[in-house]
Amino acid sequence: MKDELTYAPADGAGCHAGDTMKAAAREAGNSEVLDQYAADYPQGPHDKPQSMCPAFGSLRVGLRMRRTATVLSGSACCVYGLSFVSHFYGARRSVGYVPFNSETLVTGKLFEDIRDSVHELADPDRYDAIVVTNLCVPTASGVPLRLLPSEINGVRIIGIDVPGFGIPTHAEAKDVLAGAMLNYARAEIEAGPVAAPVSAKSDRPTVTLLGEMFPADPMSIGQMIEPLGLAVGPTVPCREWRELYAALDCGAVAAIHPFYTSSIREFQAAGRPILGSAPVGVDGTAAWLRGLGDAFGLSDTAVAAAQNASLPAISSALAASPISGTITLSGYEGSELLVARLLIESGADVPYVGTACPKTPWSAADAEWLENKGVKVKFRASLEDDCAAMEGVKPDLAIGTTPVVQKGKELGIPSLYFTNLISARPLMGPAGAGSLAQVVNAAIANKDRMDHMREFFDGVGHDDTAGVWEGTPNVREDFRELNRKKLEKQARAAKAAEMI
Ligand code: SF4
Repeated sequence: MKDELTYAPADGAGCHAGDTMKAAAREAGNSEVLDQYAADYPQGPHDKPQSMCPAFGSLRVGLRMRRTATVLSGSACCVYGLSFVSHFYGARRSVGYVPFNSETLVTGKLFEDIRDSVHELADPDRYDAIVVTNLCVPTASGVPLRLLPSEINGVRIIGIDVPGFGIPTHAEAKDVLAGAMLNYARAEIEAGPVAAPVSAKSDRPTVTLLGEMFPADPMSIGQMIEPLGLAVGPTVPCREWRELYAALDCGAVAAIHPFYTSSIREFQAAGRPILGSAPVGVDGTAAWLRGLGDAFGLSDTAVAAAQNASLPAISSALAASPISGTITLSGYEGSELLVARLLIESGADVPYVGTACPKTPWSAADAEWLENKGVKVKFRASLEDDCAAMEGVKPDLAIGTTPVVQKGKELGIPSLYFTNLISARPLMGPAGAGSLAQVVNAAIANKDRMDHMREFFDGVGHDDTAGVWEGTPNVREDFRELNRKKLEKQARAAKAAEMI
């Protein structure tokens, strides 16, 4: 029998215990899952999450789905953080939690507790599906969610491992759950007839959209593809179980967000062609409609008609809302390259785009278009890459993640938070063209205010000396040196222990 440390590795070391946890997960029999994740979500320059806990992505996908219950299994601090963020972002239902301690983890009782809770929850009048998620410690300990029953009283049970040491971003965690659900739904379709979608199915061939986007975007896409005789199908991640069947029953899949690797694997297994990039700006829309025509084997005339119906309106909208200025852009949503394309077509100079997501075949066309415009595109960009680009370029506007924005403001550079202010806007077709100009131009015009704020806060301190002090902060470099040596010694001892 394994000792307790093997089962409960590095609890308390949290998000930054990647290698230790990974080794423990392999020893606990989870190598197959980790190998699949390594293939689907290749690691970048850092081996630990630099954004929020990755499991937030899959948790949110589950919470946004009707008649779906979500249950977390993980350290209480992780679950507290994840529930807090879910409710901050407007989750309107409870997050289930099966707590554990060293004993229940070591003896396997935790798995029994999870199984009991799932049995208790599985009420077909309330739920279509229950999603159970292993966070870092239960994944590292090999809590075998695959041994849960696949269905109880007609309620589907989906068990997923979403550890921070295997899934680099919360964006990719959305794919873990979306892919697991598509896999389940595909098996149901193969086994026999399934329920029809609540909304009537279009009599035209449909295009499934992949990626969370602004609610008006699917409608804009629908208008653009109408002249091709096509209709928009469901958007994955879906909001309802039955939509998964309709999503799989499409003519082609548009990977608007290019990082949904495991979902794409499911669509490919169902024989659906996949289309990269998205209908953003003039060039993007023209190429995307062309690609869609090819996927459906449509004539050049039909494609030209669809292009003629959309492109003039996009050109006019872009011309009516020009952007002038230099912008660095970074984020972890997966739509960074699309936003950069739109900014450039609006007139902005964008020397750097960083995305925390990896390079995939579905973002290749966007990366190529941007590189041809002289943009440095960095996939799996780290926070350090994004900050270095901003500090080097000194743009008129930095669009980025919270720490990039914070650093930008400290430097007096107008900055916008990508997730809340940029990705929550329409991007597609005529509605997307020009939609960024208002917020971007207003921010660029704020330079004087940023300079004034910088002067106002000058001298209040940085990092650990920030805040209100009665006297001058007493910075003890000698204590820091001692502490640094202590930490180095601990790290050496841990490394030596690993090698025994
Ligand atoms: S589950 Fe999330 S918050 Fe908890 S240790 Fe893992 S990455 Fe960190």
